[in-house]
Parts: sequence; C-alpha cells; structure tokens
Amino acid sequence: MRDESEMNLTKRLLLANAATVIIPLIMTAFIALAVIFIQGKMNTSEFSLENYQRLSEIRFALAGDQTGVLNRTPEIIEDPGFQTHLRQQISDIGGEVILLIDDRILSSSRPFTRIDIEKCLETGRQTENKNLLVFDNVSYTVELLEFRLNKDGMGKIIMLAPVDWSGNDLEKYLILFVLIFVSFFILTNFLVSRRYSKNITLPLRNLQKAAAEIRKGNLDYQIAEEGDREIQALCRDLELMRIKLKESVYTRLKYEDNRKMLISSISHDLKTPVTSIKGYIEGILDGVANTPEKTRKYLNTVQLKAEQVNQMIDDLLLYAKLDLNQLPYDFEKNDIAEYLHKFLAECEPELEQRGVIMNFENLLPSPRLVQLDKDRMRRVLTNIIDNALKYMNRNPGELKITLRETISVINIEIRDNGFGIREQDIPYIFDRFFRSDASRGEIKGSGLGLAIAKQIIEGHQGKIWAVGHGTEGTSIIISLRKT
Ligand code: ADP
Repeated sequence: MRDESEMNLTKRLLLANAATVIIPLIMTAFIALAVIFIQGKMNTSEFSLENYQRLSEIRFALAGDQTGVLNRTPEIIEDPGFQTHLRQQISDIGGEVILLIDDRILSSSRPFTRIDIEKCLETGRQTENKNLLVFDNVSYTVELLEFRLNKDGMGKIIMLAPVDWSGNDLEKYLILFVLIFVSFFILTNFLVSRRYSKNITLPLRNLQKAAAEIRKGNLDYQIAEEGDREIQALCRDLELMRIKLKESVYTRLKYEDNRKMLISSISHDLKTPVTSIKGYIEGILDGVANTPEKTRKYLNTVQLKAEQVNQMIDDLLLYAKLDLNQLPYDFEKNDIAEYLHKFLAECEPELEQRGVIMNFENLLPSPRLVQLDKDRMRRVLTNIIDNALKYMNRNPGELKITLRETISVINIEIRDNGFGIREQDIPYIFDRFFRSDASRGEIKGSGLGLAIAKQIIEGHQGKIWAVGHGTEGTSIIISLRKT
C-alpha cells in the first residue's frame, strides 16, 4: 500500500475532496441500515398502539366474558349484517377479516388462499412472540377467535391489523437521513479543512512572513521545515537559499572590510619608510648633514628605507597576484630531503654570519617525492627563515629543521629559539598585514610574509600552521602531500 506521504499534493487534495462526500454517505447509509434493522426488530413485538386498542375493543365486543356477542349467540357469525359490520370495523383500521366455520369460508374482506388462511390460523394460535404476516407488502398482526357453535362445528374469526408503517413515517426518516448526511458532511469538511489549514495554509503564511523578513534584509530569520511534504521541501529550499544569501552577503562584507583594511594598511606601512626617506633627504638639503660622512650615513639610510619600500611593493604585488590566482604553478616531482638540503646549504653563509646555529634532521627512512614549484617553495622557506632571524633575541640563535612523514604527508618543521609568538596571536599570523604588537615597532616587515607562504602552500594543496613554545621560540610546520 502506498503511504499517504508518498502521494503528491494534487492526489491528496482529490482524495480529501472525495472523502468529504464519501464518508458522510457511508455513515448515513450505515445509520439508516441500523435504524431500519432496529425498527424491524421492534415491529415484531410492538405495533401501532392505536390499532392495537381498536383491535382489543373489537375483540372484547365479540368475545368479552359475559358481554361478548359470540358467547351469547355464536351463530351470529352467519348473519350477513354482522359480517358486514365487522368488516366495516376492521377496514376502519386498514385491516382484513376472515370468518370461517371449520374450513368453510363464510366471508373474507379480500380473497385469501388456503395457504394464507392456514398461516393466519397458525400465527393466531401462537401465544408469545407472534410473527407478523405480510400480504402485498403490508405487515399485519393476527388476532384469532375460535368458538364452538351451538350446532356442530367451530366458528373462527381471523382479524388482521396492519402494523403502522405509514408514508408519513417514511418522510420523517428521509428528513432524518438528510440531516445526518448534512451533519456528517459539515463535520468531515471541517476536519479536512482544519488538517489542510494546519499542513498548507499555516506553513505558507509563515513562509510569507519569512520572505517579508528576508526582503527587509533580516537574513537571520530562520525558516522552519513544517507542513505538508511538498511545503516542507519548499521550506527546505528557501532555508538553503537564505543561508546562501547570508553567506554571500557575509563574504561581500568581508571582502569590503578586507579591501578597506588593505588600503589603510598599505598606506600606513608605506608611509612610515617614505616619511623617514623624506626626513633624511631634507636633512641633507638643509645642510644638517654637514660632513661627507654624515651625508653618506644619511644616504645609506635612505637607500635602506627605499629598499624596504621596494620589498613591500614586491610583496604586495606577489600577494595580489597569488590572491587572484594569476600566477601559474610550475610543479615537478622532487626529492624533498634533497631539495631542502640544497636550500639550507645556500642559507648557511648568512646564518653563520649572524651567529645562528642550524641543525637539519631528516627522519625520512628513504627518499620521498613531492610535487613542488621550486621557486615558490624557496619563497616560502625564505619568508619563514627571515622571520626566525628577525624575531630572534637569543645568542646563539638556533634553527632546527626536521623532516618527518605520516602515512599521507611529509611534514617540514622549522623551529627557532626566538622570543616566540603570543598564544592569542597564533591564529592570525597567516592573515595578510597581521603583525603582532611586538613586531610593529622596531622590526621591519610588511605583514605579508606568512600570508604569501600560506597562499603558496595552499597552491601546493598543502597546509601550514604555527606551534608556539611560549618564550622558547616558535615552530612553523609545512605539510605537503606525498605523490
Ligand atoms: P612580518 O613582515 O611582520 O614578519 P609575517 O607575515 O612574516 O609578517 O609575520 C606575521 C607576524 O607573525 C609577525 O609580525 C610576527 O609578529 C609573527 N611571527 C612570524 N614568525 C615569527 C617567529 N619566528 N617568531 C616570532 N614571531 C613571529
């Protein structure tokens, strides 16, 4: 059997409409049958009171103890005057009468067959639970008088009184049945419309309210899944639409925020070195740098600052290109340990010069290949090592590079023993332009180094994150997929 919820709305509406007619019809038919059945039962033991009284009176007049005419003169049964009179009396209650002496019919209000008469006699002799007899679709109750004639023979009078089942009654029953039908019709209609109002109208009204809220810009107004199956699906779709809309609005706002932040950061970060360049040049022009050594010192500083500006602009351009996915990657398979080894060998002279001890530990059991864009990866590693050197406050500084693997990835950990990153800053250091308060002051940087590293690593389908070791230093971990 098909579940109701599997049917579509149209079918269910059709079914409900049919039910509003079929259910009242069935109920009315059922009640009508019950009424007829009960009525029929009652008719076997009772019949119209009025007819019964009349019949009793006639019976008493005929066979009452002393007064009964038949007790006194039973032969009167043969008198045609008596016969006519009796017939008249019985026909007044719509009944029939048959007069017999033994088996000989003296008079009959209507032709009856022998069999009918026998049935009447038999029924008349029953004392309890008398059956009704039906002639020509009319039910009759039977009264029988049997008396001995003075001469030989038995006189018998059969009186049939109709059970009162008049047309008037039929009309009453018809009205009753129509009333029953109408009541059931109203009741089923009420129930069906209540159900549909609960499952369709109300949820639709709620949807309308939600749509109005969304139109007003309230994208937090949740749409509950309720009502009929189709309506539920509609609610679900609209809720998904609301979530998407909210997301897109949120992303747009975030982009806008980012752009504003980008502009203000760029202006701020560029302004600082440019201002000092301007200051030093003014110093030279105004003659503050009055000796060749001073002038040289000033110019050196100007050169340094100009380089910084240049570096920042380069970073910015690179970051913008990476962000827009404008730079294609040039991937090739590389033995990661070999690649790292080469890169670190290049860094060694500078590290040595700065008095930093470097330690490379390769924990890979055998050579492992990964997809690398070598130049980009060099940029990532340079940025990380530059940071390690920039934020180093120990002597001797230490840099420990460890290469490990898990089942699916290769991890490169670059750990320094610098002053570390504050726990609350760790989630943000890969954001563009993020610079912790500690580094904002003295140490130069664009705040883009780690953001660029993250872009490039993600371009390699890898991950990059930081682990703080309190004031003992920082680890930056790069995780790359094995090929
Ligand atoms: P910056 O140009 O400021 O170095 P980065 O994106 O490279 O920009 O780094 C973001 C911030 O993360 C830095 O300003 C610094 O506060 C923090 N940071 C990065 N690496 C280290 C590290 N090795 N030790 C301590 N702090 C670090």
